[in-house]
Amino acid sequence: MRKSRIKRTKTVCTYCGVGCSFEVWTKDRHILKIEPVVEAPVNGVSTCIKGKFGWDYVNSEERLTRPLIRKGDKFVESSWDEALDLIASKLGSIKEQYGPNSIGYIASSKCSNEENFIFQKFARAVMGSNNVDNCSRYCQSPATAGLMRTVGLGGDSGTIVDIAKSDLIIIIGANPAESHPVLATRVKRAHKLHGQKLIVADLRRNEMAERSDLHLHPKPGTDLIWLSAVTKYIIDQGWVDREFINNRVNGYDEYVKSLDMYTLEYASEVTGLTKEELIKTANMIHEASSTCVLWAMGVTQHLGGTDTSTAICNLLLVTGNFGRPGTGAYPLRGHNNVQGACDFGTMPSYFPGYEKVTDPDVRARYEKAWNVSLPAEPGYDNHQMVDGIQEGKLKAMYLFGEEMAFVDSNSNFVEEMFGKLEFFVVQDVFFSRTAQFADVILPAAPSLEKDGTFTNTEKRIQRFHKVFEPLGESKPDWMIIQEVANRMGANWNYTHPSELMAEAASLAPLFAGVSYERLEGWNSQVWPVGPDGKGTLILYEDRFAFPDGKARLYPVAWTEPFKPDDTSYDLHLNNGRILEHFHEGNMTYKSEGITHKVPGAWVEVSPELAAERGLKNGGLVRLTSPYGAVKIRVLVTENVKGNELYLPMHTQNVDEAVNRLTSSYYDLVTHTPNYKEMKVRMEVL
Ligand code: SF4
Repeated sequence: MRKSRIKRTKTVCTYCGVGCSFEVWTKDRHILKIEPVVEAPVNGVSTCIKGKFGWDYVNSEERLTRPLIRKGDKFVESSWDEALDLIASKLGSIKEQYGPNSIGYIASSKCSNEENFIFQKFARAVMGSNNVDNCSRYCQSPATAGLMRTVGLGGDSGTIVDIAKSDLIIIIGANPAESHPVLATRVKRAHKLHGQKLIVADLRRNEMAERSDLHLHPKPGTDLIWLSAVTKYIIDQGWVDREFINNRVNGYDEYVKSLDMYTLEYASEVTGLTKEELIKTANMIHEASSTCVLWAMGVTQHLGGTDTSTAICNLLLVTGNFGRPGTGAYPLRGHNNVQGACDFGTMPSYFPGYEKVTDPDVRARYEKAWNVSLPAEPGYDNHQMVDGIQEGKLKAMYLFGEEMAFVDSNSNFVEEMFGKLEFFVVQDVFFSRTAQFADVILPAAPSLEKDGTFTNTEKRIQRFHKVFEPLGESKPDWMIIQEVANRMGANWNYTHPSELMAEAASLAPLFAGVSYERLEGWNSQVWPVGPDGKGTLILYEDRFAFPDGKARLYPVAWTEPFKPDDTSYDLHLNNGRILEHFHEGNMTYKSEGITHKVPGAWVEVSPELAAERGLKNGGLVRLTSPYGAVKIRVLVTENVKGNELYLPMHTQNVDEAVNRLTSSYYDLVTHTPNYKEMKVRMEVL
């Protein structure tokens, strides 16, 4: 018998958009250790707790290992042939009866670029629909839209290393110390050792706020107002970068007029920030030689999420903070591959590389390559798909690697809609909450069991390699999608993800020079990547991504956050991440070490509210919104103030899941749910 040997394999972390890479040491199916190496382009020798200890879920006994088919109230194991034949027959008949747009396709920000590429190709070229979307609709779509309006491309302006070179970092509605830990480490180091200044605007006094030179605590949902007031103050003081504006920016005069109402007095009254805090913010930007802004869901998950993201870009433009080291806009991506899922076309309006499906020239390029006729109208996004079920327009869905029943807002409504589908395919590593509503469940292989690439928040494409064979009969998502496509009439013969990347690179100019050969070892590529393989570390050095090369200042107006009419909902409920867990926790809660440390969720309550309501640490409360209720334990902490609560989003227990409480309202431009605009009332149990 051959002795098993210790193997070292390069992989990329799947727990946040930082995209740390490291070696996994294994023997047989045992993970011996995770070892960062100096060659890793983002993290060097560090990882956070999830990257180091969050991998034993791959050997969990709860893994799906065979296809399952619903028979009445039960699921029974089936062969792959039986499951795939059933999918082909059902999707085929629904398409024939109701048309191609009666089916929706939910892609995965946890899966590879190649898997997202083949999935959108399946939806468009085989099924004839642009109804394909991914979970950026729940998080950073408003940031992408704000960037598209002003600078023309929906990605971070520079690299993670570059952020640390900035003279002033402003973090708004984000907590990188827990959500993007290795990136935060770079910021902390630069702040402590190299004199970098830090402003944090956040409702919570989180770790970065604690370390900051200035912590702004505006009233919930008022960021656009203080950002506009600070910008106006900078303009009024004559502190704008006049040369940059004259040479590189359109729309200045109209934009300046749009700021008339944003006086310090008005901003102070609405946001609750003092005039001194607003002036100090403006002064710090004026005094800094380079400023960059990092933001996340505290900005985007509002009715006006796109407009506030736009206001951030406007501020950076008038102060000349684009196109130089240490400057720029950094919407921090949450999932490990939310950037890549969007980049490779799982969006209802865009082909891979952000080329519009409505552009006849672009469509013609894809039609020629794929030898099909493609739909010209944008499809439904995630939100429209759920509404489409209620309206009777959407009859079936095919979803892979996404826990939509936990993470979409107003989950009671979402689950009710899933129950109305005529046919639902779910492809996942585990029997997820969403899978409970499926008709067919297909067992997928996680990243350690396949090859592929991920793209991190700074647009860096990195290779990950297969460590283990897929468990049981599970398969890589791209293989399963190909098998479904072939049963639906395609004749695809991809044998390795590299062939999918080569096809994407041949079609999307943004990735022209991306190839597996160039991603060997620890090499990586940051898009846009030219045909010669050279990437772009800093965007907009010479020109912005509009035809005339100039950026566009884009006037925006404030949208008041959603409030229920019933005033008994008297507490503001904020929500977000913690360091130890990832998203709904389907992977991290199955990693023993992590679950041992943090076994469940809680609600943070301020000492003053605890005193007023007689609450103690560990006490049980019920939170109720107009949409549902949760029961949850209390943690009294000075992280939150007054009537503001904070509920971490990660739980495996639906009775404490934040989306039992959230509404179906959304950002007016992108349909990203307004998760952060939530009023609840509290009962002590
Ligand atoms: Fe993984 Fe993000 Fe932690 Fe890096 S910082 S190890 S990518 S979770």
